[in-house]
Amino acid sequence: MEQKGQQKRIFLSSPHMGGNELNYINEAFETNWIAPIGPNVDAFEKEIASYVGVSEAVAVSSGTAAIHLALSLLDVKKGDQVFCSTLTFVASANPILYQGAEPVFIDSEPETWNMSPQALEIAFKEAFMDGRMPKAVIVVNLYGQSAKMDEIVSLCNQYDVPIIEDAAESLGSTYKGKASGTFGKFGVFSFNGNKIITTSSGGMLVSNDVEALKKARFLATQAKDPALHYQHSTIGFNYRMSNILAGIGRAQLEVLEERVQARRLLFNRYTQELGFIPGINFMPELKHTQSNRWLTALTIDEKVIGTSVYSILSTLAEENIEARPVWKPLHMQPLFVGVKYYYHSENSSVSEHLFNTGLCLPSGSNMTVEEQMRVIDCIKNAIREKVK
Ligand SMILES: *Cc1c(COP(=O)(O)O)cnc(C)c1O
Repeated sequence: MEQKGQQKRIFLSSPHMGGNELNYINEAFETNWIAPIGPNVDAFEKEIASYVGVSEAVAVSSGTAAIHLALSLLDVKKGDQVFCSTLTFVASANPILYQGAEPVFIDSEPETWNMSPQALEIAFKEAFMDGRMPKAVIVVNLYGQSAKMDEIVSLCNQYDVPIIEDAAESLGSTYKGKASGTFGKFGVFSFNGNKIITTSSGGMLVSNDVEALKKARFLATQAKDPALHYQHSTIGFNYRMSNILAGIGRAQLEVLEERVQARRLLFNRYTQELGFIPGINFMPELKHTQSNRWLTALTIDEKVIGTSVYSILSTLAEENIEARPVWKPLHMQPLFVGVKYYYHSENSSVSEHLFNTGLCLPSGSNMTVEEQMRVIDCIKNAIREKVK
């Protein structure tokens, strides 16, 4: 609720409809395809597959569901280990627990803020020595920035461990000209309300392994054996996307490129206005990659600036502006106490440093220039207050 005298709330990342959504929804109503199957689902899957350049895609109820399906398809079960980026949203790792398996967290490196190939290599070496190789590696592309895929893919190939690319935040990004989400055995996208395009809730599993995706469809619809009576011989899930929501997705995909450009423009304006301030460093963009800049993220050097991340966050909150710290690394979460963690280098935990100094700014593609200037002025004031 808006308080009296308070300015309009600026959100971190709010849904931004393209205009065609209701046409697809109306079509679903007119043809009575109000179900977790139907023409919008089929078309949305084909359109995403063609957009990112993979053989097939399976539309599901969330990004989390897509990760869970990928782990099931790779036969991850109790007692297995799965390597996972530590600097991410909890949804990257929760499905490991659903399967009764154990996560092992891998630190970030400073150039992409994503999985450190150096730490991954050490983790692989130790796993190999222990005779306990992971069943999969979940690599996250944080805030739209691709991880160092060449290095990570090469290590995973060397140890023959499949990759699940958690591209929930990086739809529309590229790495050396190739679409984010297409570097692993499986790729995962999310269409949650805060993502670059949304179906309110939804996700997509992509792969070039058509047989595996056929099985994904089977598992996602309660694993019904081919019989007239209801017969089941494996555990299934109810994970398919609604035909109504797929209609929203089709219209959103039509404007994805615009959304990427809008977010990149916001990022550029933030860097123009704040990048010159000593002690402020924006999240880098690796050479030969393009980030969709889902969220503009930066770090604050408190010693140089004299203001902490938390003090800037509270100043923004007072002005009715939603901003957030960078994801709290999963190895620091109470949920994962005691879980193994591999540092980037002996005396540097990059993800912990990013968490302690990092900040995500409002980055919605529907934000106006005036709104963005409000955010920028507020940050400048928060810094000046302390310098006085
Ligand atoms: C949003 C997100 C997910 C989960 O997607 P949902 O559709 O919300 O289930 C997984 N991983 C990352 C990195 C995310 O940002």
